[in-house]
Amino acid sequence: MDELEARKLIVEVGKLLYERSYVVSSDGNVSIRLDENRIIATPTMTSKGRMSEDGLAITDLEGKPLNDKKASSELAMHLLIYKLRPDINAVCHAHPPHGTAFAAAGMAIDAPILSEVILTLGCVPLTGYGTPSTSELSESMKPFVEHHNALLMANHGAVAYGEDLWQAFDRLETLEHTAKIAILSRALGGANDLPKDAIKKLINIREKAGYLTEAARCQSCGYLEETGISCGHDEITNIKPEISKTNGAKFLFTREELIELLSQAANGR
Ligand SMILES: [Zn+2]
Repeated sequence: MDELEARKLIVEVGKLLYERSYVVSSDGNVSIRLDENRIIATPTMTSKGRMSEDGLAITDLEGKPLNDKKASSELAMHLLIYKLRPDINAVCHAHPPHGTAFAAAGMAIDAPILSEVILTLGCVPLTGYGTPSTSELSESMKPFVEHHNALLMANHGAVAYGEDLWQAFDRLETLEHTAKIAILSRALGGANDLPKDAIKKLINIREKAGYLTEAARCQSCGYLEETGISCGHDEITNIKPEISKTNGAKFLFTREELIELLSQAANGR
């Protein structure tokens, strides 16, 4: 992509992230793949609402600086996504409050409650916690990157990616909007899941229309098993998000166990 155009776009999307409260202070980071070897990314310690076009960092795919600006310390997750997904040319990471509430509560955004979300985004899995700006974070994301276009990072935030920056931003926006609706419908007594045959139809449509490929049929979508649609990515069925308890001990739960525990807690048992 043309470098000047990429600079303009990153500053514009940074402002939107800030204005929509998806980030505060110097949170979040955005990048674009310029060509085979170069990434342009938001600089470290800068508000996304107040960036300048000439303040952006350029690195190679290993994160080595190619100009005099320092890229965000969370660049590693962007580089991981570019390496694992040749179809992806832009990454948007932020801490949108509703999506991040799911991440803090240890919950994926995967209830089949909105037809358009199934069509355009698919489910958003929860990846395990990793200290920001260390390799722990990208390690915990690794198994999920191929099969999803947006991820929640436990106790941290969200990342979405796309063929271009607008698609990445739109996916992040859909993630946040879905999380908000899920939380609001909970306040009204709980959302109804779409019927299984409706989900099956939506998945067929999205694959025929090319919105999402079969790669998006991940087992983290608890509902896929029930519909009889399989994604064939067995290697990730046994991934369990690691949830740390306040006493410092660590426990591993499957999504089902987690939901069971949460509903027990909600019912005061
Ligand atoms: Zn972050």
